[in-house]
Amino acid sequence: MKCGMIQDLLPLYYENLTSQESNQEIETHLNTCKICAEFYETIKSNPTTQEIPNHDIQPLKKIKKSVMIKAIVSFFVGAVLLASIFLFLFWGVIPAKQEDIQVSYTAEMLENGDYEIDFAFSATGNWILNSRVKRTENSFYQEELKLYCVKKIPYDNRETGDFSLGFVKTEPFSEEDILIIDYRDKDITYSLKEIAEQAGLQ
Ligand SMILES: [Zn+2]
Repeated sequence: MKCGMIQDLLPLYYENLTSQESNQEIETHLNTCKICAEFYETIKSNPTTQEIPNHDIQPLKKIKKSVMIKAIVSFFVGAVLLASIFLFLFWGVIPAKQEDIQVSYTAEMLENGDYEIDFAFSATGNWILNSRVKRTENSFYQEELKLYCVKKIPYDNRETGDFSLGFVKTEPFSEEDILIIDYRDKDITYSLKEIAEQAGLQ
């Protein structure tokens, strides 16, 4: 056999894929041909460069891929879960129901003749109060107050978050002066004018 043919067969020979007859030919040639013997040495010393049949590696790749996807999915599910718990406990993204909040107000005339109404909000039960006030920049008050609650956890010594909201006007309150409280279950609108009138201020 010619050297070219031998060298073509050598990778197969190395993998034991050649016939007995070919093996004898190859071995005889290798004993006599230095060039082919050296070529065979390089094949033996670099077995990793030999192509591994494709059908063996494919299932492995698939398994690796599905394990990766599972890992990524569980990572994100875990992250979202942790974030939700964190938000629920510490930031107060759960809107309060009307029954969770106690609202009281006082109306009085100040010494300088200004009209003042003060609202006080406190959480009942195991809630901690949080709020977002949307102030509108008008000549009159028209505030929207969203109340959020945080659940108290055992051994939780955080303040209950009670707060107050004051309205002061130099003239009597008008019908446009309102406070809207957005609860989870309903919206309640307070008329500042009515409150002032009930208190005998105006
Ligand atoms: Zn040769």
